Amino acid sequence: MELATHGAMPDGGVTRLALSEADIDARRLIARWAESLQAEVLADDAGNCFIRYAGRDPELPPVMAGSHIDTVPGGGKFDGAYGVVAALEVIEAMQQAGVRPKRSVEAVIWTNEEGARFSPGQMGAAAFAGTRSVDEILCVKDRDGVRVRDVLPRMLAALPKARMRSLGVPITAFFEAHIEQGPELEAHATQIGVVTGIQGRRSFIVTVLGEAAHGGTARQSERKDALLGAVRIIGALEASVLENESDARLTIGTFSLEPNAPLVVPGCVRFSVDLRHPENATMKRLGDLVPAICARHRGACAVEVVENANAPCAYFGEPMMQFIEAAVDRLQLSRRRIFSLAGHDSREIVKIAPTGMIFVPCKRGLSHSALEEAEPHDLAAGARVLAEVVIAACDA
Ligand SMILES: [Zn+2]
Repeated sequence: MELATHGAMPDGGVTRLALSEADIDARRLIARWAESLQAEVLADDAGNCFIRYAGRDPELPPVMAGSHIDTVPGGGKFDGAYGVVAALEVIEAMQQAGVRPKRSVEAVIWTNEEGARFSPGQMGAAAFAGTRSVDEILCVKDRDGVRVRDVLPRMLAALPKARMRSLGVPITAFFEAHIEQGPELEAHATQIGVVTGIQGRRSFIVTVLGEAAHGGTARQSERKDALLGAVRIIGALEASVLENESDARLTIGTFSLEPNAPLVVPGCVRFSVDLRHPENATMKRLGDLVPAICARHRGACAVEVVENANAPCAYFGEPMMQFIEAAVDRLQLSRRRIFSLAGHDSREIVKIAPTGMIFVPCKRGLSHSALEEAEPHDLAAGARVLAEVVIAACDA
């Protein structure tokens, strides 16, 4: 709740965009918590932050747990933040119990998971996993033309005691606790979701270039109306992508129009296309349709399609799921396996280390919303499972 004061909205939601003042203030708060735990703070060139509780053998690769603290505009208090706070709670509990494990434990804050300001998301985790280069992510611009490179130094300056460390250090395992962001656990009155994998996504930026003209005088037959072209394309995308594919998800989340004046035929339209499917082969096929559909329905306009994210589905594997299930059973909590339809940092980290995710229920499955809510006893149960798996992995 204290973390949620940074970026708090009057309606109870949180707007804490990546590397905004609210994000920087929230990291400052977490660094203060780290200080009270006498834990070291580290950071890397992608702005990922690590709160380190040194183990008995500090040379061994650490066990990491965490998530992200950035939100979408008008997001909730729990998405991401829960996983970071739960990881800090694990460190605090270990200290209070006098437990110093063999391997070090690090609570991690991955930079820009949401991609709401700097698209696409999972930026810090992707840089850590080596999927994206630091040089590339530093050049990513937000809507106002501000680059990651312009704001990252401000964030690091807010953590003067943080020790810089190279990206992609070896890790023993990574665990991410997260609210489900869907209705399944609540519907089945189950406390813990053991995540089997994460749905992949492909995303595109489509630019339709027409010709701005006088709305009163330009002949209808000679117009190159970018908005009408975009509307035809979106209708065709909906028809082709969603046809016979009930598991597919298609979202046009941003849309801009130039010059956006009542008397002017629109000259340029730009929109985003986010496409998801739980099977990689189908997602590839559907994604490959996008440029062709845009070309076929552009009419008199020109169209440009840029794919800006292509993340296949990730699967965590049977040994990891059984490792988490054993911990849930030791705590005598109820569990079920669940496939994550939302994206998470774990989709990147699983590429470089054994990775597992623990879901807890959230009210009505609502997320990315001010109405996002979770019960304290569910959050506590998830944190206990996180503690079990972290300790078991530390001493393995
Ligand atoms: Zn999240």
